[in-house]
Amino acid sequence: MAEDIFDLTVIGGGTTGLFATYYASMRGMSVKVIESQSEFGGKVMQFFPEKRIYDVGGFPDIFGESLVYRMIDQARRHEPVMITGEWIENIEKRTDDFRLRSSEGRDHYSKAVLLATGNGTFHTKTAPEWEALPHPTFRQQVASHLMHKERYHNKRVVIASDNKVGVGWALYLKDQASSVTVVNPNETFHQVKDADLQALLDSHVTVYFQSSLTDLQVVDEQLEYVQLLDKDQQIVTIEADEIVTFHGLELQQTPFADWGVTIEKGRIPVKGDMATNVAGIFAAGDIVQYEGKTNLIASGYTEAITAVNRAHQSIDPKATEQLYSTVIYRN
Ligand SMILES: Cc1cc2nc3c(=O)[nH]c(=O)nc-3n(C[C@H](O)[C@H](O)[C@H](O)COP(=O)(O)OP(=O)(O)OC[C@H]3O[C@@H](n4cnc5c(N)ncnc54)[C@H](O)[C@@H]3O)c2cc1C
Repeated sequence: MAEDIFDLTVIGGGTTGLFATYYASMRGMSVKVIESQSEFGGKVMQFFPEKRIYDVGGFPDIFGESLVYRMIDQARRHEPVMITGEWIENIEKRTDDFRLRSSEGRDHYSKAVLLATGNGTFHTKTAPEWEALPHPTFRQQVASHLMHKERYHNKRVVIASDNKVGVGWALYLKDQASSVTVVNPNETFHQVKDADLQALLDSHVTVYFQSSLTDLQVVDEQLEYVQLLDKDQQIVTIEADEIVTFHGLELQQTPFADWGVTIEKGRIPVKGDMATNVAGIFAAGDIVQYEGKTNLIASGYTEAITAVNRAHQSIDPKATEQLYSTVIYRN
C-alpha cells in the first residue's frame, strides 16, 4: 500500500497541538494530529474542563471544555486528519521523512513533526476496591473527569474520590445536581485546600470518609444505586443516576530519548525557532523550555505558530516566514 506522507504530523492534541493543526492547515500544509487520549484537549480537558479560564485572549471567561470544542472546530476548518486513541511510541528518521509508529501498531509518515506532547499523558488511578465491583462494562465508561458537565445537571451524583479534584467537582455540582454524595476511602482529601474542604463540609453535599464502595446496581447500563461500607462498618445504599471517580493521575512520559530528542530536566530546550536537536522535529507548548517560558495556553499558541512556520520552511524553503489570515481568506 502506498504510504500517505503528510507535510506535518502533530503529536499531542492538547490546546497547543490543536492550534498548530489549524495554523499549519491554514498555511496549506497537509496535516495529521495524533492524540493518545480518547478526547482532544490535553490538560484542559483532563484537569479542568468545568472551570472557567480568564486568561485566553478574546474570551473574558470561558469554560475549559468550551474552549477545547471551539479549538476542535477551528482545527477542522481545512479538514486535517485528526486521530484520537493512538500513542506514538517510536519515531524513525528516514532519508526524506519520518515514520511514526504507534503502540496500537499503526504507521504514519511525515516530512516534519511537531511535538505538542506536554509532559506526556495522564492515566487515572482507581480505588483498590473498584476492580472488585460488578458491571465491568459500565465501570469502564465511568468518567474520571467532568467533561460534558450538563449530563450531571438535576441528577443524583456520586463522586468516588480521595482527592482535591473530587472536592472541586462536588463544589461545582452542588448547585447543578439534584444531590451530591462523596465517597472517600481515606480520612481526608489529598492536596485539598482548607477553605475548599470547609466549603464542602458546610454545604448540603453528603461526605462519607473512610468508606468504600461495595456494590453498584446497574440496569441497561443505567446506574440505579451504589452501596458502601461506612466507617462504622454499616452498609449504606445511595440512590444515584451518575457516578464519577478520581483517585489521582499517573503520568506516562513521552519517550523522547528513544526518538533522539534532547531533554533537559524533563523539557525540550528550544530557541526562538522552536526547533529540537533533530532536524525536521519541532516542539511547542508545555513541553518546551527557554528563558522566559510560561506554561500557559496562550504561550502554546505563539510557540505553535513559530514551530509550524519553521517546519513549513524546513520542507519548502520557498514557504513564507509567516502569513496573515486576513490575507489568506480575504473576507
Ligand atoms: C490545574 C491547572 C490549571 C491551569 N490553569 C490555566 C489557566 O487558567 N490558564 C492558562 O493559560 N493555563 C492554565 N494551565 C496550563 C495549561 O493547561 C497548559 O499550559 C496547556 O494545557 C498546555 O497545553 P499543551 O497542548 O502544550 O499540553 P497538554 O495539554 O499537556 O497536551 C499534550 C497532549 O499530548 C498527548 N500526548 C503526549 N505524548 C503523546 C504521544 N506519545 N502520542 C500521542 N499523544 C501524546 C497527551 O495525551 C496530551 O493530550 C493550567 C494547568 C493546570 C494543570
